[in-house]
Amino acid sequence: MPVDMLDYAIGVDLGGTNLRAAAIDRTGKMLDKISGSTNYSEGRDAVLHDIVTAIQKLREKHGAEGLAGIGVGVPGFIRMKEGFITNSNNLPFLENFPVRDEISRRLGTFVILENDANAAALGEKWIGAGRDTDDLVLLTLGTGIGGGIISGGRVLRGFVGMAGELGHITVVPTGNPCGCGNQGCLEKHSSATAVTAMAHMLHLGEGLTSKDVCELAGRQDENGEKARAIWRQVGESLGIALATLVNAFNFPLYLLSGGMLPAWEFFAPHMMQTLEHRSFTYRATKAETRIAQATLGNEAGLFGAAYLPWLEK
Ligand SMILES: [Zn+2]
Repeated sequence: MPVDMLDYAIGVDLGGTNLRAAAIDRTGKMLDKISGSTNYSEGRDAVLHDIVTAIQKLREKHGAEGLAGIGVGVPGFIRMKEGFITNSNNLPFLENFPVRDEISRRLGTFVILENDANAAALGEKWIGAGRDTDDLVLLTLGTGIGGGIISGGRVLRGFVGMAGELGHITVVPTGNPCGCGNQGCLEKHSSATAVTAMAHMLHLGEGLTSKDVCELAGRQDENGEKARAIWRQVGESLGIALATLVNAFNFPLYLLSGGMLPAWEFFAPHMMQTLEHRSFTYRATKAETRIAQATLGNEAGLFGAAYLPWLEK
């Protein structure tokens, strides 16, 4: 049977702390979802075992005959051809190991490996905020910042598979050092981690989350003003990055997702102002270019991973 006639696909999202897998049908309906923590401290074999077990459970329940394929989203830089992760802060033990082929071997079937933010962008394109366009950029604002670029309805991967690492765009030439070796990366100035660090520097409190800083920003006192200054900084860095992206791609849609969206009202005005100031392309296309919130939340990656087998057939 041709793959586009088959009923469902399995998507896996291997996050920083948990592993989720879902069976999703061709119309984008989630049939089933497994989510559990995976014990990263137990190392590579245990994590691979957890991935394979989750997929097997779904395959047994929904039947191997109807399965169009399996997509696995993982954090890190990916070498597509080899199915390797070359650099992953969260999963160092999976680096430089044939992850894709090992999962394939254990399951006895073909598997597609994809960067998690690329998968999320694809999910938004398939059934989320980007369903009406074939060209979009997604920025995932979390503890780091991931990026995914969808061009012509497909993931833009570059020749190796490492395109779309938008969290490492330089937004402050002499800014904060990043684990990637650069300094002033977008994720060092606009991620939840960056918000927490700024809150600490401004003596707003110990161990504040970005959500706490969002709540503080609603207050009409001195700390509220400090918190709003943090969000303006976040907005400015995002605006600089978006100006670069709009100039580079001239796409109609740029989506933001992740745990920082509740602070949208505090960072978006400055982000939009900076974008408008810095991008001629944006000013010239303002009526048709949208900067918007993604709609699938943290399930975007699951949908995108599941969509891959249909797209890559
Ligand atoms: Zn970096």
